[in-house]
Amino acid sequence: ATPTSIMVGTGRAAELGVLFRNGEALQSLRSTEVVAFDKTGTLTAGKPALTDLEVAEGFDRDDVLALVAAVEGQSEHPVAAAIVAAAQEDGLAIGSANGFEAVPGFGVSATVGKHRVAVGADRYMEKLGISVQHFSETSQRLGRKARTPLYAAIDGKLAAIIAVADPIKPTTLQAIRALHDMGLKVAMITGDNRRTAEAIAAQLGIDEVVAEVLPDGKIEAVKRLRAGGRTVTFVGDGINDAPALAEADIGVAVGTGTDIAIESADVVLMSGDLLGVTNAIALSRATITNIR
Ligand code: ADP
Ligand code: MG
Repeated sequence: ATPTSIMVGTGRAAELGVLFRNGEALQSLRSTEVVAFDKTGTLTAGKPALTDLEVAEGFDRDDVLALVAAVEGQSEHPVAAAIVAAAQEDGLAIGSANGFEAVPGFGVSATVGKHRVAVGADRYMEKLGISVQHFSETSQRLGRKARTPLYAAIDGKLAAIIAVADPIKPTTLQAIRALHDMGLKVAMITGDNRRTAEAIAAQLGIDEVVAEVLPDGKIEAVKRLRAGGRTVTFVGDGINDAPALAEADIGVAVGTGTDIAIESADVVLMSGDLLGVTNAIALSRATITNIR
């Protein structure tokens, strides 16, 4: 592309809420074959709400929720906010937590009163040597409904299964359909539960799912998608998306995301609307056509 067509292209993009941080991205985006999205906060709103809480025998629902909320009060994960909000809505007295520990991609634990409380994914319980077998069927049912199953353990005993659901953004489905119409493959990369990820992917018509990825594993996931020389655009918003944004052929940061994601990207969407991605690719294609 000529410098003039790049100037026109980036100017037009800015009007559409798409910021090209370099002219190279405007040219290279047209050759993308796969668009891979982070799930939480990118395809979805990143604002989960608690939908289910089932306790094991011998545990009281409100007591468990109050203990878990005390731990999550120390966490910055979106899931934590959902659990704290649910406890507050129920008017529960939330105690204070000591000795808080967060294991990224797994879960969190702390001491509340005289209890050690842990909450997180099945792999966190596994790490702690606590079987989640008891809730196996419930977990499968929740996953099929696109809800994320989490587990709470109190003093080393499985106490509850908790589910959260994160709404898909209003234009996500439309954006994915547009990408398919452009002849592209669409992928999802997430740390979430496989069954949950697959249920969301099915709702959205996503072609490839890489689930249960650890926070530092997204870069590997992008590498896998790039195998065979495929050109991959990765779209993400979070701190742990930054390395994947750099690894992808083209990194697109959602403007509502973290600063570090924005700094690692070639393209920044001014809003969280993923139609910005299709606009950006369409513009890239148009810019090249202009000079022919
Ligand atoms: P994602 O943002 O894609 O869900 P993360 O790597 O942040 O990926 O987390 C992976 C999983 O670890 C979450 O889906 C959740 O099951 C669990 N997890 C992480 N942090 C917490 C927390 N504070 N409370 C409960 N579960 C958590
Ligand atoms: Mg995210």
